[in-house]
Amino acid sequence: MFEAPEWVGHDAGQHVDLKLTAEDGFTAQRSYSIASASAHGRLELTVQSVSGGVVSPYLVDTMAVGDELQLRGPIGGWFRWTEQLVEPVLLVGGGSGIAPLMAMLRQRAQASSLAPFHLVYSARTPDHVFYANELYSISQGANGVTVDLLYTRSGRPHDARPAGRLSLDDLPAAEPSEGSTRVYVCGPNGFVENAARLLLDRGHPPASIRTERFGSSGG
Ligand SMILES: Cc1cc2nc3c(=O)[nH]c(=O)nc-3n(C[C@H](O)[C@H](O)[C@H](O)COP(=O)(O)OP(=O)(O)OC[C@H]3O[C@@H](n4cnc5c(N)ncnc54)[C@H](O)[C@@H]3O)c2cc1C
Repeated sequence: MFEAPEWVGHDAGQHVDLKLTAEDGFTAQRSYSIASASAHGRLELTVQSVSGGVVSPYLVDTMAVGDELQLRGPIGGWFRWTEQLVEPVLLVGGGSGIAPLMAMLRQRAQASSLAPFHLVYSARTPDHVFYANELYSISQGANGVTVDLLYTRSGRPHDARPAGRLSLDDLPAAEPSEGSTRVYVCGPNGFVENAARLLLDRGHPPASIRTERFGSSGG
């Protein structure tokens, strides 16, 4: 959670650019999706430490409460959801790609939106699920939100679905009678490419699919 006194809020799905400056003047800038619902003066990020990375290990392992950094945003006009939108929403996330989708789920709850949401979230194992407790609570509520968790490496002992990468059967088909579903896909490049291809095979029109790519691999 970052305190940012001049922050006036954001739309769910948007991101910020963080800039780190070392004592020797070396700077590095990376993008991070905002995981919280819109609020004045603060925002939450979810960072996965990338082995050998410059910025993410610092943010996860070294940065301490009270440390400061430069932050620019909110950024992004396409990968956005606001409570004015009433159509059904399908969220498809891989790994830390849950971050902007979490912002959408939280914004929906904060605004008491009735738009039907369906989250399909792929993680390596149950231990790699970000926001596991919050997602469990959401999945138990009679709130118009469906949560499907799937695992790529190994799942729980009694899972009906064998562990494996996202496949056609994991995604709901487009249902024209419901009106056009808005689809948001976020995660590592390979995950997003695969998911987008499967969604097209499932009949979702290209214009309904919005994607955000985090980087090379992982998930
Ligand atoms: C719009 C946007 C939003 C993003 N939001 C988030 C977010 O919410 N949470 C989050 O954790 N990350 C997010 N990312 C990814 C983030 O910007 C960085 O790319 C990531 O943290 C790695 O930075 P680094 O400096 O640690 O690694 P780098 O020093 O940039 O890279 C080190 C090595 O890791 C590889 N690498 C780079 N990025 C990744 C990756 N994502 N997965 C696996 N390997 C990688 C590189 O190819 C390189 O070999 C987002 C990216 C974009 C473009």
